[in-house]
Amino acid sequence: MARDFLCLAATLLLAACTAVSGAPAPPATAPLVVLDIGHRIGSEGAGAPRAVNGKRLSETSFWYEYAYYTKQEIQAAGYRCIVCNRGDAPSNPRLQEFARRAGVVQLHQKQKEGRYASTIHPDRYAAGQISADFAIRQGAACVVFLHHNGLNGWSTRGENAMILHNRYNGAQLAACLCRAVNEEILNHGMDNKGKACVPAVRYHASAPSAGWMNACDDSGIPAAVTEVAYLSNANHVSFLTVDANARKYAVAIAHGIIDFLKSYNPHTRHIRANDHIPDEGSNGKTIKY
Ligand SMILES: [Zn+2]
Repeated sequence: MARDFLCLAATLLLAACTAVSGAPAPPATAPLVVLDIGHRIGSEGAGAPRAVNGKRLSETSFWYEYAYYTKQEIQAAGYRCIVCNRGDAPSNPRLQEFARRAGVVQLHQKQKEGRYASTIHPDRYAAGQISADFAIRQGAACVVFLHHNGLNGWSTRGENAMILHNRYNGAQLAACLCRAVNEEILNHGMDNKGKACVPAVRYHASAPSAGWMNACDDSGIPAAVTEVAYLSNANHVSFLTVDANARKYAVAIAHGIIDFLKSYNPHTRHIRANDHIPDEGSNGKTIKY
């Protein structure tokens, strides 16, 4: 009886693990990828000027819907993956369902004007700092901040599609993400007038410009921000409002991450020697609440 019960419990556990990703859950020792949904519910970053194909895209709601496919692909390759987002859970039932499906971890911390002070590296604060700190505490092998870009009004030109990365640890991750996006999405369905996605390092002007990645650098974690699709570009939007295309895009991001993890040697990582000696991109102090 006890043995039957254990078997049943094990079967149920396996079923539960399998149900989430469609494949057995990766082992607890597998490298961990943290995917952060950019911005927050109620302040969703870039948005399309109007609805296309019945859908008005915004950065945050797009990734609530599609980060699940990125996660699924990463887990199928044998890596662990957590999706997080700062701020409150969505109240919209549709987004709630997406959040449940992707297992989104909602992150909360006191903030000032949309910025969070790092609780790990005292001279770092930024909008995405809360997520960077979460990835560091989870011991992530890498972290990818899922965003889109946007300019004023509509355009159809080739945009400056970029993968931003942290200075010391993120170049290889960004190169892998660019390659995947260029081979599978950009100018392969998502027209960008032949213009490719390129890596761009970020560490100056730390607070407004993805500076939260500096804290990942301090802890030796490769970090990247996806700024590939422009929600102001009619060609990008008409591509991404088709569900199958959006899934393909989310999976391409996973392919870049998987490629990176396969070739990455964590022993080569750069860790900041001393948090008390200001580094480039340092705010020099924390923020007072
Ligand atoms: Zn953004």
